[in-house]
Amino acid sequence: MTWRVVLTGLLASFALAKQAGAQATYTLKPTPKGVSLGYYDALVQPQIPDWCKPLPRPEYKSIERVATSDPWFEVYKVAPDTFAIYEPHQAEEVISYLILGKEKALLFDTGMGISDIRKLVSGLTALPVIVLNSHTHNDHVGGNWQFDTIYSMDTDFSRQNAKGSTADAQDELAPGQICGELPKDFDAKTYRTKPWKISKYVHNGNKIELGNRTLEIISTPGHTPDAICLRDPANSLLFTGDTYYPATIWLYRPETDLDAYANSIARLAALAPQVKTVIGAHNIPVAPPSVLTNLPAAFADLRAGKATCKSDSPGKKRCDVRDYTFLLAAAP
Ligand SMILES: [Zn+2]
Repeated sequence: MTWRVVLTGLLASFALAKQAGAQATYTLKPTPKGVSLGYYDALVQPQIPDWCKPLPRPEYKSIERVATSDPWFEVYKVAPDTFAIYEPHQAEEVISYLILGKEKALLFDTGMGISDIRKLVSGLTALPVIVLNSHTHNDHVGGNWQFDTIYSMDTDFSRQNAKGSTADAQDELAPGQICGELPKDFDAKTYRTKPWKISKYVHNGNKIELGNRTLEIISTPGHTPDAICLRDPANSLLFTGDTYYPATIWLYRPETDLDAYANSIARLAALAPQVKTVIGAHNIPVAPPSVLTNLPAAFADLRAGKATCKSDSPGKKRCDVRDYTFLLAAAP
């Protein structure tokens, strides 16, 4: 069969489907193997956003997957007693982490709040769970309200966010933000970030003892005033939240402080020799320590005007420099 025959056949079936007025029909037809027809894809799969076309990301192939009953989440074992809880059906592709000790577990972020992360976590561990957030942007605190023990950085930004909010949550459901199915019992109309109660304030350098596993808090303001990284020295892990993850790093919001960010990433780069795995909060859970070593120079180049930038969504610009991409507020 030549491509012409395929094309003619496809256009005919598209026309039939269109006549029938059955939009869903378009999605049932697979793109023929070996035939690349850009506009055909656009016609046949109008509802698939660009960001989710490359999913699943190839990096996940080499990470052990853990079976779960909730299709909203994917769970991966990224290190011993360390689980990535990934939400691939929403454009943030946020990743929360469940870190197990012998006596307690720490949940580093609670995700979007779109499905039931507490239920998921209770299927992974019976240990008491402490919640600690990498920072309090809505996509990292969505399930906080479901837990009793929540540690927080002692900042006004954290306290304000703990009151809950609606606008950022609703933006996460805008057209093109969802890939695949929302959970059956999810109510988009009432979706919001629910408030939570802070149990205890924590500070830079504090250690959290989980039983045979000690985590250390490193305050890394910049992305937000309450951004932290979490160090697991015995396992040479560094959880970096939104301060670093292997994708476009967002630094455009009004609460972002670029000078503070430069200072924080310089301190992380100094830690890199003691880190085996860098564990970020979006897209892909693991990265080598070299990403931290090289980050300060890339960021310095960016601030010196050496990046290649182009305008992005209104008020933002996307800048490539060395191996990194940053999303920044565009100058007014
Ligand atoms: Zn964030």
